[in-house]
Amino acid sequence: MRVKVLGSAAGGGFPQWNCYCPNCSALRRGKLQVRPRTQTQVIFSLDSKVWFLLCASPDLRQQILSARELALPTDDSASFPIGGVFLPNADVDSVMGLLHLREFQSFFVFATLGVQCVLLKENRIFRVLERSNPPAKWQTLSSKGRLGCHLSEDSSGPSDFICGTVPLGGCYPDYVSEETLRAVPAEDASVGFVMEQDDKHLFFAPAISGVSAVWKAAAERADVSLIDGTFWSDDELMRTGRSRRTAREIGHLPLSGPGGLLEQFPAKAKGRKILIHINNTNPILDEDRAEHRVALDAGFEIAYDGMEFQL
Ligand SMILES: [Zn+2]
Repeated sequence: MRVKVLGSAAGGGFPQWNCYCPNCSALRRGKLQVRPRTQTQVIFSLDSKVWFLLCASPDLRQQILSARELALPTDDSASFPIGGVFLPNADVDSVMGLLHLREFQSFFVFATLGVQCVLLKENRIFRVLERSNPPAKWQTLSSKGRLGCHLSEDSSGPSDFICGTVPLGGCYPDYVSEETLRAVPAEDASVGFVMEQDDKHLFFAPAISGVSAVWKAAAERADVSLIDGTFWSDDELMRTGRSRRTAREIGHLPLSGPGGLLEQFPAKAKGRKILIHINNTNPILDEDRAEHRVALDAGFEIAYDGMEFQL
């Protein structure tokens, strides 16, 4: 399985154009020698021909244009490089890129029923995915299950890989109406994925809301975990003047502190552990800061745009 990170930042990217937090301000002024980052987008492939997307980032158009793996074949009878999109939740930064995929090509969209309901019933703009012929094909994921997936449209043979879903807790985004919230299962709000092929496991969990045995088991077993690195501290958004809410209140376990992700990540896990979905306020982005070093010393890698690896 080949995996490539096309975007590694949380919502808004880094720098976020309208943000005055210390990191974004310093990067814009040229005072911070670190990599800018686009919003979280990961792609993976089993055959280097058909690629699947994890999330559909608001930056997806530019990310596709800059990824040689997703270059459109010169011949329009050749196969389309994007086979499907897996949506972990209905957050703006996970789904907005779907709009960039409208018009000419069909593909699969994998999401829980709750997320589908939010996107197709309450936010009818996503119906533009019906413009292609045939229209985009929605596939339902249970919040805790295993689905056999195929590289081609023909799903009669044995599956090419398994998508396991891991419930991550958390809430639906704040734009969802009360009426919709009453109609959708709470556990469908946010899931992680375990992509499994030939006994290799890729775990993708960009929004871990709390500590649970379920995601810990997935992380322990994975060859590579791409895991929630959104915030360093619980009060980070308050201290940087970005919000009055804590990291935990908006569905992200912070990296540091008692009960934080660095402490809670299973010590027995043998695979690579890579922090992704890093918010622009997070001090680990600054390679000169102690927090950056603490994360590395704890055995974590910090994702960057263009990072690639093979399982
Ligand atoms: Zn910022």
